[in-house]
Amino acid sequence: MKTFENKVVIVTGAGSGIGKATALAFAREGARVVVSDLNEEASKETVRLIQQNRGDCVFIKCDVSKENEVKNLIEMTLQKFGQLDCAFNNAGIEGAPSSTTECTEENWDKTVNINLKGVWLCMKYELKAMITAGHGMIVNCSSIAGLIGFETIPAYVASKHGVLGLTQTAALEYAKQNIRVNAVCPGVIHTPMLDRFTQGSEEAMVAQVPMGRVGRPEEIAETVLWLCSDHSSYITGQNITVDGGWVAH
Ligand code: NAP
Repeated sequence: MKTFENKVVIVTGAGSGIGKATALAFAREGARVVVSDLNEEASKETVRLIQQNRGDCVFIKCDVSKENEVKNLIEMTLQKFGQLDCAFNNAGIEGAPSSTTECTEENWDKTVNINLKGVWLCMKYELKAMITAGHGMIVNCSSIAGLIGFETIPAYVASKHGVLGLTQTAALEYAKQNIRVNAVCPGVIHTPMLDRFTQGSEEAMVAQVPMGRVGRPEEIAETVLWLCSDHSSYITGQNITVDGGWVAH
């Protein structure tokens, strides 16, 4: 029997990069997957790849920064599949690069609304469904930028630090309801976001990675699956850093 057979999983930001790799990995392990993203076009490819391998999935469009859309995402998931077992709250943006003094209010609000408010909204409705069911596993996507500072992305860094605080808080609040809440902190991972951030030249970033290479989205996906599986049954309120050694400096 596959690890996630009979389980229903939501992945946000599943149209690209880490979310796409994680949605594919869950489907490979037998989960019924809700592929959710703002980007409908990109998500069609995730859905196509899952169905090509005889996986079961549905696309539900959702802007994670909008409460009515997140509420609808959870309601539609329950309508379609009748349950919700796991969620990977992954959707995020890097925001426009700028120093702390040059960051605009618009850039700050957009970045924090998607990366931090979005995770809170997703948890708000996922947790309600999981409390009713009596079990659940949530993994939130933070970053090594949730652990240390990075020049030129103050809103991103603040939002990712916030995700870790929210993760610990929800873990404490719902531990007795058989719900585990953890976070993953990816380092430099090869995705369209990284291409935008480095403008195609990754060398300077790679030079700072002790393992001497960027990570693959699949390496984050495997960590998320492990955190959602019974193999991590006594772990809650933690963040697992997957960064080739970056924050060990
Ligand atoms: P990505 O390739 O840009 O994928 C992110 C996906 O999220 C895209 O499909 C994007 O749609 C979607 N999205 C953007 N805003 C959204 C919203 N408001 N609601 C729903 N979906 C939305 O990025 P990634 O590198 O896979 O990043 C995934 C997560 O990992 C993010 O939280 C990111 O901060 C985190 N992370 C990434 C790295 C890295 O090196 N790549 C490192 C640490 C942490 P569009 O394409 O239309 O924008």
